[in-house]
Amino acid sequence: MEAVKKDPVIFEGFVIMPYKYSVGSMASKFFIKIRDSKVITAAKCPKCGMVNFPPRSVCPKCFSKVEDLVELSGKGTLETFTIVHYESPVQALKPPYAIGVIKMDGADTAMTHFIGGVDARAIKAGMKLEPVFKDKREANILDIEYFQPVK
Ligand SMILES: [Zn+2]
Repeated sequence: MEAVKKDPVIFEGFVIMPYKYSVGSMASKFFIKIRDSKVITAAKCPKCGMVNFPPRSVCPKCFSKVEDLVELSGKGTLETFTIVHYESPVQALKPPYAIGVIKMDGADTAMTHFIGGVDARAIKAGMKLEPVFKDKREANILDIEYFQPVK
C-alpha cells in the first residue's frame, strides 16, 4: 500500500466574542475618579513607596497590598510611540493613529494610550503630554480620549 502524503488542513477564521468581567476594586476606583472628576490617580505602595499607574492592588516590587490612590497632576512624558497603519476590527480608532507609552509625573510606571491633537510628524519621545477627556465618560480607559502636547 502506498503512503499518501497529506498536507495539513488549516481553517482560517475570526471570532468576535462579547464578554464581561470585573476590573476589581482598585481599577473601579481609578475609572470612577476619571469618569466623575477627570482626575487621574495611581496606587502608592504603603511599604516601598512605588507609585503604580495604572493602579494595581498588589505592589509589583514588594508584593504588598495597596488600597489607597494618590492623585496625579495628569501630565506625563512620552517615552516612546508608534504610528499604527494596520487596521483590525478590535481597534478603538481607525488607522492611522499614534499610540505611545506615557509615564505620568509622580508615577514610577507607564501605560500606553493614544496621542492626538498634534500632527504625527511633530510627535517626539520626551514631549510633555496631558489628557483630553471625553465629554460623556463611562468609567473606562477610553474616557481619556487621548493625550496631547501640554499647552
Ligand atoms: Zn511596594
